[in-house]
Amino acid sequence: MLKIYNTLSKKIEDFIPINKSHIKIYVCGPTVYDKIHIGNARPLVVFDTFVRLLRYKYPKVTYVRNITDVDDKINDRLISEKITLKDLTDKTINDFQKDCTSLNNLYPDYEPRATQHISEMIEMIENLILNEFAYLSKGHVLFNIKKFPEYGNLSNRTLDEMISGSRVEIADYKINPGDFVLWKPSEQNIPGWESPWGRGRPGWHIECSAMSKKYLGVEFDIHGGGADLIFPHHENEIAQSRCANNSDSLANYWMHNGYVNINNVKMSKSLKNFVSISELLNRFKGETIRYFLLQSHYRAPLNFSDNSLLEANTSLSSLYRSIENLSINGDPDKEILTNLEDDLNTPKVFSRLHFLSEQANKGSVEAAQLLKNSSSILGFLEKTSDDWFKRSFINENNLSNDKITINQILGLIEKRANAKIKKDFELADKIRKSLDDQGIVLEDNAEGTDWRYK
Ligand SMILES: [Zn+2]
Repeated sequence: MLKIYNTLSKKIEDFIPINKSHIKIYVCGPTVYDKIHIGNARPLVVFDTFVRLLRYKYPKVTYVRNITDVDDKINDRLISEKITLKDLTDKTINDFQKDCTSLNNLYPDYEPRATQHISEMIEMIENLILNEFAYLSKGHVLFNIKKFPEYGNLSNRTLDEMISGSRVEIADYKINPGDFVLWKPSEQNIPGWESPWGRGRPGWHIECSAMSKKYLGVEFDIHGGGADLIFPHHENEIAQSRCANNSDSLANYWMHNGYVNINNVKMSKSLKNFVSISELLNRFKGETIRYFLLQSHYRAPLNFSDNSLLEANTSLSSLYRSIENLSINGDPDKEILTNLEDDLNTPKVFSRLHFLSEQANKGSVEAAQLLKNSSSILGFLEKTSDDWFKRSFINENNLSNDKITINQILGLIEKRANAKIKKDFELADKIRKSLDDQGIVLEDNAEGTDWRYK
């Protein structure tokens, strides 16, 4: 029996599908204005593994992961980089898909783009206005959260807590401070679509409600995403979908993965403490990154460092040594399956993998075979041992100890920023030069300092 921690009930529950011959799952995908970082990659890998398990257990699974290609962060980029929406999003989506492939993620069954579903969103908003769940105010259409008594149930927050949190935007055109935007007007220089309320663009939340309904129907089994989406994004999705569809549920199970931290602070683009997947792929294999992301339980925070990836690589290499050049022949290991079915308990899966590896090294052909047979459900260990060691590292030089780590780079950037505040420009320049000598380029901008490899 598959067990899932359901954010909605805050409990581990037995998974009871709506229709056990066809499982339906929706996961929120990227907002495509920039390359993804390792924090963004975690839900991609976690839910890919979960969907692999579902596919093993059930005859049919439909997995939808959307692409948000209309958003204010995207609009900011269009203006600052002077490019068209299509050029920016096509390029970012292309980079995103390359990263997904490197991480051994299988394609979702549908990967809908928000801009191709504007009419579905307009239809849903019209319905919400007609039934008085939403109202028009100063060119905006807003959802009135007081019309949905269960609002706050997913995130377990009271209205006051939501308002005092910084994520609720206070605006004079709202009836309640927590009301959220379904549609907003677009000035001429940013993307917009004709609507009954003038030229404008959808709010982020309505995008997922419209796309999940189109591809999975009014009620489906599982909705997933990062823990940072619980509020307000998923809370709002539930409110508007259930009111528009007049339904008792949007998804029966809500799954959320924990954050990836760097130096124990959540990695995020706004904090500028992120490491992009494409940067990491210069030094590590995608499979190593995937292995690292699955080592911890998906709901626990995960601390990232260069060292943690080096350790993951060593650990994965030791498994590869045990499977030699076997091919899949038979079912995955039962204990691995049981642990995956237990709310994706990957730490236990990893201990079992290493136990099997030890047995294999002592001469157990059966253990080696079970290890190999479990590879397709995990999405790693799928190569032959020869292939893995042939291309063990893309750049072997980066393994040497004199190579600077990401933590050290971030530390020096901070030191340089402090030096500048104290007007010690000599020290600031010295730090920049020393990083430059080690192949790290700093780029100062209005929000701070970015860095990249030369
Ligand atoms: Zn979403």
